[in-house]
Amino acid sequence: MKVFLSTDMEGTAGIVDWAQCVGEGPEAAAGRRLLLAEVNAAIDGAVAGGATEIVVNDSHGAMRNLPAAELGAQASYISGNPKPLYMMQGLDDSFDACLFIAYHGSVGAPAGMSHTYNPRAVVEVRLDGTVTGEAGINALVAAHYGVPVVLVTGDRCACEETAAVIPDVHQAVVKEHVSRLAAHSLHPDRACALIRARARAAVAAAAAVSPPVLEPGVLEVFVRTADIAEAASWVRGVDRTGPRLLRIHGPDRLATYRSFCAAILLTRAVAEAV
Ligand SMILES: [Zn+2]
Repeated sequence: MKVFLSTDMEGTAGIVDWAQCVGEGPEAAAGRRLLLAEVNAAIDGAVAGGATEIVVNDSHGAMRNLPAAELGAQASYISGNPKPLYMMQGLDDSFDACLFIAYHGSVGAPAGMSHTYNPRAVVEVRLDGTVTGEAGINALVAAHYGVPVVLVTGDRCACEETAAVIPDVHQAVVKEHVSRLAAHSLHPDRACALIRARARAAVAAAAAVSPPVLEPGVLEVFVRTADIAEAASWVRGVDRTGPRLLRIHGPDRLATYRSFCAAILLTRAVAEAV
């Protein structure tokens, strides 16, 4: 049984500030140890639930946050940047379940370090009319390949936003929002125990779970400036429907996701410049 694990970082218990999850400082190194423990807890749980092969896709920042030799259960590791399928690189229709680990709430939501892909560009994303974060957007790829998304871990907002578009997803809430740069976290040992238990239950039940529906899978993206919207509109599949509003709908849900990622990459320079 093959399990795909996409790991972000801001949703890790004990991590509340960018110094803990960006760059090479001592706090970032400590943050990566906290993340490694949560990823390994998810791997342990997945194996206990029946996983025989696990692919970890590092989806945060420079996307090389984990020491490969310390990943559990001989999980293989996709790391580095850029990757064509970004947070979902490596997923295809050979997988039986998909896990989202250490995810965070969407930009604008009451959640720690809230953002949706690029905080300098994206103000809000709706998926078929529902406000969503990275989990909902990434689930388009799982829907395309027919893989059920069975677990999300992270802050409460990330879990609730995921459940809004994937109602039967298992959840492990490891911290509660206090402010954008403050949170009340479980002790890391308890967070890992919770993640392990939920991963086991989620993977054990995966065979009976359907892939996300997400039909028609239209993304509406409200961006911060008109310049960002203009640049994004150069991407195939992206229509500019207002001064700062984009509608993204490709021929299938994978194409929609790829158009979204292309718009994020293309607008990065414009977003930094203004
Ligand atoms: Zn993220």
